[in-house]
Amino acid sequence: MRVAVLGGGIAGLSAAYFLEKRYGDFIQVHLYEKKEEVGGWVQTEQLGPHLLEHGARSLRPGPRAPLLFPLMRELELTGAIELPAPEASQRYLYREGQLQKVPNSIREYLFSPLFRKTAFSLLTEWSRRKGERDDETIAAFFRRRLGDFITDELVDSLVTGIFAGDIEELSVKSCFPMLYQMEKEKGSFTRTLLSQKRVSPPEGTPEWQKAPFFTFKGGMRRLPEAFKAALRCPIFYGESAVRLQFQENLAVVTTDKREERYHLVISALPAPLLSALLPGKHEAIKKTLAATSYNSIATAHLIYDRPVLKFPGFGHLVPKNADPRVLGIVYDSSAFGKESLGTKLSVMMGGSRYPEVVSTSEQALLQTAKEAVEKMLRISAVPAYQKLLLAEQAIPQYTLGHEKRLQFLLDTLPKEIPQLALAGSSYYGVSVPEIIASSHLLVSSLTATVTKV
Ligand SMILES: Cc1cc2nc3c(=O)[nH]c(=O)nc-3n(C[C@H](O)[C@H](O)[C@H](O)COP(=O)(O)OP(=O)(O)OC[C@H]3O[C@@H](n4cnc5c(N)ncnc54)[C@H](O)[C@@H]3O)c2cc1C
Repeated sequence: MRVAVLGGGIAGLSAAYFLEKRYGDFIQVHLYEKKEEVGGWVQTEQLGPHLLEHGARSLRPGPRAPLLFPLMRELELTGAIELPAPEASQRYLYREGQLQKVPNSIREYLFSPLFRKTAFSLLTEWSRRKGERDDETIAAFFRRRLGDFITDELVDSLVTGIFAGDIEELSVKSCFPMLYQMEKEKGSFTRTLLSQKRVSPPEGTPEWQKAPFFTFKGGMRRLPEAFKAALRCPIFYGESAVRLQFQENLAVVTTDKREERYHLVISALPAPLLSALLPGKHEAIKKTLAATSYNSIATAHLIYDRPVLKFPGFGHLVPKNADPRVLGIVYDSSAFGKESLGTKLSVMMGGSRYPEVVSTSEQALLQTAKEAVEKMLRISAVPAYQKLLLAEQAIPQYTLGHEKRLQFLLDTLPKEIPQLALAGSSYYGVSVPEIIASSHLLVSSLTATVTKV
């Protein structure tokens, strides 16, 4: 069976990897990547001891650990894993003109300024009525269950940190499916979370499997490089898919260099790009794919040649009333224990709060970043090195109706275009572990198709 995978980001690489692993000689895979390198939004530049990540900066295995941990071994990456420093457990919020610690324990919470503002809402969450709608925005869900303060100051900052999106538009069912499910099943998520027992990892569990997140020595690019090294299939670099057609049970892939026929095409492209490749007669599918919007983020990488950070930790988030342009600042050097080699900060700007980020000059964005560092972290030193990286149209927005649109695609594609399957961040989660898990699920679901050919 001949399979084309379109897009050499993490979704395409992991789909190709799982295809080869599961179906071996039954299939022949071709991977097409528009650029001269694989990785998509997982790209690293190394500058001395500091890493400049273009996109993803760490992996948080979470519920995907059972898939991710063996994969790290298969890809021979365990020796390259870099763990966070103990300081990384400290996070902050920039509120009322200063950094406030996000409590790490119940004791810390009881003594934090957040206690007075949030205790009543948290303690009475279990008594709130269940929502009646099938889906609602993140803002509506949290306002209903926890009130305005937690929604506007805490949830909004957290969501901004993950999706760079607007809580008034994003769907709670698609962005936080576990919390949504807890309310549906148990009526309360605080009660469900508090009743969950903490299971300690068994004796002998390696340290990297106990860490909440990790990166790799040399940066996140080690992941796409490891996938690439493990693949047998040819990768056609610098080759863009420009058209897809479907005839007599085959898919015809036209790139800017060739035309090839396949039994199956896995699109690991952002949904709107795939939409543009499909023939006009699949109008409803094209429209549904094109409905996913994307937000942009600019990261200002600021490197100081000596330690200047006064607040050790992972970083801080910024509620929109404090500064609508800056989403947060990651203290890279502190989070990974490199502060003694000089401070490295990543100032994240943009998202739905500041869409003008794409049309603002590099100089102006670097200036905004340095002003934020001075105001929020009280660092007035001049960075020895600065670089702005713009991730344009990079983060898909799972807005209200996302789940219905997905269901429509799942129902319609097998009937209308059975030679096409979908992978990537446009559908089932934007984080790297979620994307790998959905590629794995997709490949597992293809058994009937592969054995039929
Ligand atoms: C600034 C930022 C920070 C992030 N931080 C984290 C983090 O810390 N942890 C985490 O887990 N996730 C993070 N993410 C999210 C994560 O990096 C992305 O969701 C993920 O990398 C997307 O992978 P993908 O393969 O779905 O898509 P992409 O990475 O977009 O890959 C698509 C690929 O398709 C190629 N392509 C496009 N058009 C064509 C064509 N016509 N033909 C052939 N190829 C084509 C592109 O060149 C690209 O390589 C972050 C993202 C950004 C932008």
